[in-house]
Amino acid sequence: MSNNKIDGKQIASQVTEKVQERVERLKEQGVTPGLAVVLVGNNPASQTYVNNKTKTCERLGMHSVMIELEENITEQELLKHVETLNNDKKIHGILVQLPLPKQIDEDRVIAAISPLKDVDGFHPESVGKMMIGQPTFLSCTPFGIMKLLEYSDVEIAGKHAVIIGRSNIVGKPMGQLLLQKDATVTYCHSKTKDLHTFTKQADILVVATGRAKMIDASFIKEGAVVIDVGINRDEHNKLCGDVDFASAQAVASKITPVPGGVGPMTIAMLMENTCLAAENTLIN
Ligand code: NDP
Repeated sequence: MSNNKIDGKQIASQVTEKVQERVERLKEQGVTPGLAVVLVGNNPASQTYVNNKTKTCERLGMHSVMIELEENITEQELLKHVETLNNDKKIHGILVQLPLPKQIDEDRVIAAISPLKDVDGFHPESVGKMMIGQPTFLSCTPFGIMKLLEYSDVEIAGKHAVIIGRSNIVGKPMGQLLLQKDATVTYCHSKTKDLHTFTKQADILVVATGRAKMIDASFIKEGAVVIDVGINRDEHNKLCGDVDFASAQAVASKITPVPGGVGPMTIAMLMENTCLAAENTLIN
């Protein structure tokens, strides 16, 4: 099938256009949404992600602050930075770019972010609220995938969604959000036996394993919707997903490319969450 590519870049720009309108309305009321991005160390991939996030913020007229810290910073020092940002009225959203260096307990840092500013949706309070369907900040990647499905007119209710991957930031919340929209959800992971048996039943297949091109057409039911979360480098150092796009595209009814699929949506949802955090300050 050709022409079945889901254009994440284009959908992300539709989402950010709406965010921009909300930013303008907030500014009229004297509030400029502000995002602080904390980067520890010099992981090149993290640097690229962080730069993209702050650039998008600025493009949408939002205030953005980048805090770059040394690789060998102590957990205590990092927690102090988070506390300062929690108390900063110009900052509505705080994002600490993961992974963090070994000497720092990521869970402790995430838990230290005020849930009112948890625009990444990783705080246990946000995760708990998401689980029970209460309004909260949703983890940006699965939230972005829900938007991709919505904008692509993919029916979810009654469909079998199979998620490969069970990380706290992608796989687990992804399954919960699909469940809330009445999908029947199956989680697969590295200990799943005979992966094919499950993936072949999927009407919607979300792949988030971090294993370059591991899913080809043989795993996919004819007509399935395939969402590729992976960001990997192939043998030629080119960006690629967890799905072998050329092979999978021939059997999928709709499929996201890498790059240009899920990635742009993750940033768009971060912008939407930051805007929401700023709007909440007018209500609370
Ligand atoms: P993790 O490494 O935290 O999780 C990977 C998951 O995949 C684990 O649950 C693991 O199982 C499972 N897995 C690994 N190998 C296999 C296998 N051979 N068969 C079945 N399951 C397997 O990764 P993340 O969830 O953080 O990220 C996944 C991918 O998505 C990465 O490539 C990452 O770069 C990308 N990503 C992209 C984003 C975007 O914006 N596009 C945002 C976030 C991540 P087990 O639990 O048993 O170990």
